[in-house]
Amino acid sequence: MRKLKEPSSKFISVRCSSCKNEQVIFGKPSSKVNCLVCNAVLAEPTGGKGRIKTQILEVLG
Ligand SMILES: [Zn+2]
Repeated sequence: MRKLKEPSSKFISVRCSSCKNEQVIFGKPSSKVNCLVCNAVLAEPTGGKGRIKTQILEVLG
């Protein structure tokens, strides 16, 4: 089973849980990442690892 909830330094494709916008973001963000459409928080930095706060569609590796 792949650990999709703990991406390393990869780009991931996510879908905003609010507006269903699909967006490619860095899996280890150094600052908050917001949805480009509705401005919801998609990911936020937590020490070393980023925390993804929305649905992950695909890890792009
Ligand atoms: Zn959105």
